[in-house]
Amino acid sequence: MPKEYKADYRVNILKENITGIEVTCCGHHLGEMRFQNNEGLICPVCGTHHTVTLQYNHFHIRQNQSVKGEDKI
Ligand SMILES: [Zn+2]
Repeated sequence: MPKEYKADYRVNILKENITGIEVTCCGHHLGEMRFQNNEGLICPVCGTHHTVTLQYNHFHIRQNQSVKGEDKI
């Protein structure tokens, strides 16, 4: 991943189905989120909470700064 990007989302597709989303943040590969509603990963460096939200004909990938006590997923 080029260093100028703070975060990167690699969406994996197998036979036209999304299988997962690999998240990189602050230069660290955090892992892969399953393509299910409210899946999430938290960056240990900056605390950003990356989540996937599925809706009926689209999905969102969001970043939220973690709030103390609310950062468990
Ligand atoms: Zn980060």
